[in-house]
Amino acid sequence: MALPHKAGEWRCFEPELEQRLLTLSHYRQALRTAAEQRELFLVYQPKVELVNERVIGAEALLRWTSPELGRVSPADFIPIAESSGDILRLGDWVIDTAIGQLEQWLEQECVPPNFRVAVNVAALQLMQPGFADSLITRLGRSRLPAGAIEIEVTESGLMQNLDLALAQLRQLAAAGIGIAIDDFGTGYSSLAYLKTMPVSVLKIDRAFVDSMDTDEQDRGLAQAVIHMARILGCDTVAEGVERPEQVALLRAMGCTQIQGYWFSPPLRPEVFIDYCQEQNG
Ligand code: C2E
Ligand code: MG
Ligand code: MG
Ligand code: MG
Repeated sequence: MALPHKAGEWRCFEPELEQRLLTLSHYRQALRTAAEQRELFLVYQPKVELVNERVIGAEALLRWTSPELGRVSPADFIPIAESSGDILRLGDWVIDTAIGQLEQWLEQECVPPNFRVAVNVAALQLMQPGFADSLITRLGRSRLPAGAIEIEVTESGLMQNLDLALAQLRQLAAAGIGIAIDDFGTGYSSLAYLKTMPVSVLKIDRAFVDSMDTDEQDRGLAQAVIHMARILGCDTVAEGVERPEQVALLRAMGCTQIQGYWFSPPLRPEVFIDYCQEQNG
């Protein structure tokens, strides 16, 4: 509720709203300096190939530990960074850091040569006309083959400007960069559009995986996604796998990869390498 304060001036008298606005600008400010202050880092969650249970890739996930705010979840700060536009700078930092990390792992032979790291890309990044060019240039400057990096985009990210998104995805795919649809099944992408997109991976959303061993409908939907992926020539990654019952079902259904706490949570790079070497023998 806004009430006239002085002539021509409006003040916010809704304490909750005022608090929220304050918090928001506070977060934005803190986030802006986070990168320079080295408060941001990436953790890596293994992606395991189902047929042989080998770690064949990882998803890079952003973490922020602020001296003042403590640990802030990406589910909270990514939307804030998107609304302020700061995600563009953060997103570039994520891409460069993931590239640098993978270069180092490959050089030290900690991971197999065809290992892939996936980075999450926000809608606003994909809506920058130069996004694909910039990613291809960054990869070109690195010592990585193009196939070493994959991007994860959500259906809602694609739908904001489908023509632009499609043009960039085609450019990225032509350069050998893998494209995964994140949280698949929770958005609005139509089957017709999906067919025109150069998608290489569908990530089955945790919502379906969660209850697939207890809920027949969710199990059926997960199966349908796997079937559809096969028709489209895509791999499937099941997200949020926490129980061996889910692993067994997904294997029987022909899902190709698994990501979740059952194998491993997201890990700091040093720990990730230990896990990887143990798991891959
Ligand atoms: P997402 O891309 O769908 O990532 C999967 C989320 O599920 C991660 O949460 C991961 O830690 C969590 N997870 C993985 N396995 C399990 C499991 O077995 N059980 C449960 N309950 N959760 C599991 P996180 O790291 O908190 O990230 C949340 C979201 O924040 C991500 O969802 C992604 O949308 C966004 N995000 C994270 N890092 C970045 C980034 O660098 N850039 C952008 N644009 N978004 C990011
Ligand atoms: Mg993701
Ligand atoms: Mg996801
Ligand atoms: Mg998710």
